[in-house]
Amino acid sequence: MDAMIYADVHAHLDLFSSEELEGVIERAKNKGVKAIVTSGVDVKSNRAALELAKSHSTSQGIISHGIIKAALGIYPTDALKMSDAEITAELDFIKKNSGTVAAIGEVGLDYLKSGKKEGRERQKEAFGRQIELATKLGKPLVVHSRRAEKEAVEMLISASAKKAVMHCCMADMKTIKKAADAGLYFSIPALILRSSHFKKLAETVPGSHLLTETDSPFLSPYQGRKSEPAMVGEAAKEIAKIKGITEYECAKILYSNYQKLFA
Ligand SMILES: [Zn+2]
Repeated sequence: MDAMIYADVHAHLDLFSSEELEGVIERAKNKGVKAIVTSGVDVKSNRAALELAKSHSTSQGIISHGIIKAALGIYPTDALKMSDAEITAELDFIKKNSGTVAAIGEVGLDYLKSGKKEGRERQKEAFGRQIELATKLGKPLVVHSRRAEKEAVEMLISASAKKAVMHCCMADMKTIKKAADAGLYFSIPALILRSSHFKKLAETVPGSHLLTETDSPFLSPYQGRKSEPAMVGEAAKEIAKIKGITEYECAKILYSNYQKLFA
């Protein structure tokens, strides 16, 4: 039997210091993590994500085979701070770097932090443009949705954007079921160890549409410790338990889902 391998489809590696990062990557490799999709959220972090992917390419210099993959995008509340021209310029930057970009993210809708009507419309506009961009480039979307899960799912379905991962999705099970039926994917954080919601989500969504993530350094399953990609296998193990399959079988399915979407 081969060793189990994992993918962390959502992390923010730019939020670790460079001294921390070395250990973070080393521990992830030791735990069988083969891919970490690090997400930008704005102009600055998008460049950091690209740099991280480039600096962790293989010894032959092949970026796409390195452990770090870059997702670039404009986060819903960051879109509110940008003009149309600034958003256009950033989307052009993403297009220009599409050879190195693995996904469009972290994008979506967040009505918790922007309750006002104009803010919502503005977020929808930015999200819509990024769904379009992802479709055009053939890249998957990494979607953040907070208090706007239904709206985010509806926008994806009506744009026929099937290559989309709902990350850390707190939607009600009816919305989750609808999204899964429409072919959308869900990534489950290591926090599932302490969350009945994510356990229920893993039960509801078919294994063919599940992925794993950590949202590092956020959402740690352990008090007093930062979350990091090395913990992603724990989400996979919990999913195996819920699905009633072996850990090995489960890891294989989850990794092939990752490959199908991101590779
Ligand atoms: Zn995130």
